[in-house]
Amino acid sequence: MKETAKLEIAKIGYELPPLPYAYEALQPVLDVETMHLHHDKHHQAYLTNLLAALDKHPQLKEKAPQDLLRELAAIPEDIRTAVRNHGGGHVHHSIFWTMMKPGGGGPPAGKIADILGEFGGFEAFKTKFNEAGLKHFGSGWVWLVRTPAGKYEIVTTPNQDSPFSQGQYPILVNDVWEHAYYLRYQNRRADYLQAWWGVVNWDEINRRISTIG
Ligand code: MN
Repeated sequence: MKETAKLEIAKIGYELPPLPYAYEALQPVLDVETMHLHHDKHHQAYLTNLLAALDKHPQLKEKAPQDLLRELAAIPEDIRTAVRNHGGGHVHHSIFWTMMKPGGGGPPAGKIADILGEFGGFEAFKTKFNEAGLKHFGSGWVWLVRTPAGKYEIVTTPNQDSPFSQGQYPILVNDVWEHAYYLRYQNRRADYLQAWWGVVNWDEINRRISTIG
C-alpha cells in the first residue's frame, strides 16, 4: 500500500498546475521568458478555452481531463473539437512540466533504463526520439508511450491530438511546438531537442511507468 501511494502521480485537475520549480530553474536549457509565456499564457489559454467549452456540458468536469481525451468519441459533438484541442493542450502541458527538473538529465536509472535497453540503450533511444521530434512537420509532440498491448513506442502527434485518444499511455514527452523553444533556439529545433535531455526528470518518468493516471 505504501509503495502504491508513493508512486501516485500528480493529479491533473481543472486548474493551472503551478510549475514544480522556479521559472528560472531550467536555465540555460529553457529561458525564463519562454517558461513564463509557455506556462502562464499558452497553457493558461488551453485551460481557459477547455473550461469555456465544458460550461456547455458541466457534468463532464466530473471526469478527469485525460479521461475526456480517452473517451473523445463519446464527447458531445458541439465541444468535441474544443476538448481535443484545448483539453489536449491542458493535459499535455500538465504532464510536460513534470518531465523536467533542475539538475535533471544524466543517464537513466531504474525501469526506464531497462525499457530504453529495448531501443538499443539511452544514446540510441535519444537519437530516435530526437529524430522523430525533428521530422515531425509543424506543431505537435513527441512521446514515448505504452501501447494497449504493453509495448513501448516512440510516436508523434500533431497539434494537441493525444496518445490518450489512441489508448496509449504517455511515459515521456517533449513539446515540439515552436512556442516551446523559439525564443532561445529560433528555428533550431534539433538543438532544442538535444539540449532538453539536460533537464529530463527520470524520477518522474519512472513514476509514470509504475502507475497510470
Ligand atoms: Mn507547448
